Amino acid sequence: MSSIQGYGVHAAGAELLPLRYDPGDLRPQDVEVRITHCGVCHSDLHLIDNDWGMSQYPFIPGHEIVGAVTEVGEAVRHLVPGDRVGIGWQADSCGYCEWCRKGEENLCSQAQPTCVGRHGGYAEAVRVNARFAMKLPEALDSETAAPLLCAGITVYQPLRAAGVNPSSRVGVIGIGGLGHLALQFARAFGAEVTAFSTSQVKESEALELGAHRFVHSRDSKALKAVEGTQDLILSTINAAQEWSAYVGALRPHGTLCLVGVPPRPVSVEAFPLIAGARCVCGSNTGSPARIAEMLDVAARHNVAARTESFRMAEANQAIGRLRKNHIHYRAVLAN
Ligand code: NAP
Ligand code: ZN
Repeated sequence: MSSIQGYGVHAAGAELLPLRYDPGDLRPQDVEVRITHCGVCHSDLHLIDNDWGMSQYPFIPGHEIVGAVTEVGEAVRHLVPGDRVGIGWQADSCGYCEWCRKGEENLCSQAQPTCVGRHGGYAEAVRVNARFAMKLPEALDSETAAPLLCAGITVYQPLRAAGVNPSSRVGVIGIGGLGHLALQFARAFGAEVTAFSTSQVKESEALELGAHRFVHSRDSKALKAVEGTQDLILSTINAAQEWSAYVGALRPHGTLCLVGVPPRPVSVEAFPLIAGARCVCGSNTGSPARIAEMLDVAARHNVAARTESFRMAEANQAIGRLRKNHIHYRAVLAN
């Protein structure tokens, strides 16, 4: 396309407005994708508000994209026009560093996010390096698969890295876009699953999604009752927290893994870490190879987002509901 129409943000916290841009010539390694669906991730909201100080205005948010390839650059061998693909947080990487060569492109220092310094998926089309456009298994529905491309891989990666299996006890803090997929993947891995949530109304849905147990995370007695029970706790929340309660919920060798981005430093006492050889870590999306694996697992184990559908032109409404923590569980915009 010689110009691409989308919905962009022009200043921190502003409403999205129609935005048209010229993508220039298609680079040999790139593909252009006509977008059918795009999930609304909380990271889009952090970028809209410039919470991370990295936003470059104006920009079109959106990095949970599904669509059809319309054009391929001359160096692209593995995709052809018409292929249905998904695109997540990452649009490019250097391809040569230690991490890219190991197949951990998500750790490349030159990694390019899909909507930072470039325009993302709240639009009719997008261009990315073809290495980051993933073919979707046929069994996946486009709307409920779009959130897998960021939320899904972000929770799948640490579950896989921790070797979660039927002997594992996995806790998930925050049952939003990421968290509701984490419950499903942890259950698919055979773990005993605990949902930690501030929203009592989510209890029955959390159990349907795969949790064996629901803990109200603002109830300190309920948190105390799960002390020393969890092998892996995945925090998907974007809020400050009494983190020591979650470190206390870990078994020896247990890990608290942060994927959600709290606004303030995470502070924990050293002694419980030392005494139980416990660990606090982070995790950042996943490589293309891991995304392909995750999509295959989702297709075979029926992992799918629960979505609220909006038209692309209704992006501001979706964002408004996300700001209020009203979405069950992922807003998806459709063209
Ligand atoms: P989301 O749909 O808004 O879900 C976040 C959940 O956090 C909410 O549903 C809520 O769950 C809980 N929460 C909200 N406010 C809270 C508060 N004040 N105290 C305690 N819990 C609270 O967001 P998301 O799209 O899943 O994204 C979550 C975070 O992950 C964001 O910070 C996002 O930037 C980050 N993220 C990171 C990566 C990565 O690669 N590491 C990738 C994608 C997203 P309950 O109602 O159950 O309490
Ligand atoms: Zn995201």
